[in-house]
Amino acid sequence: MYAMKISPNNPCPCGSNLKYKKCCQRYHKGANALDALTLMKSRYSAYVSRETMYIIKTTHWTNPQFNKDRKTWSKELLDFCKTTHFTKLEIVDSTYHTVTFKAFTEQGVLHEKSSFTMVDGKWYYLDGEIY
Ligand SMILES: [Zn+2]
Repeated sequence: MYAMKISPNNPCPCGSNLKYKKCCQRYHKGANALDALTLMKSRYSAYVSRETMYIIKTTHWTNPQFNKDRKTWSKELLDFCKTTHFTKLEIVDSTYHTVTFKAFTEQGVLHEKSSFTMVDGKWYYLDGEIY
């Protein structure tokens, strides 16, 4: 397995102060994120824990990164996860459909306003505007 092990009892990467198993791991295991903010945080945690299939499954098919070849896409995501070391997530603002955040990495800060949409009761990442 490629996935970096985050112990279920470790603090969740999203910064909730909950254990991973009580927070984002539930979504990575199939629970439905009930709002855009929860989805965004769980996607951030998925980048940290290298849950590439979760990132793929929660990306809307109109996103420019969307690739029907999941195997290739997953490999690309994994390379990104391996070379990008996220250290902290800071939520700047959120609305029903958007989340503005700063994701701190060892290489710099990613400041993005992400847009989300709900289809058949499931939230998906649409796209992001980088600041
Ligand atoms: Zn979490």
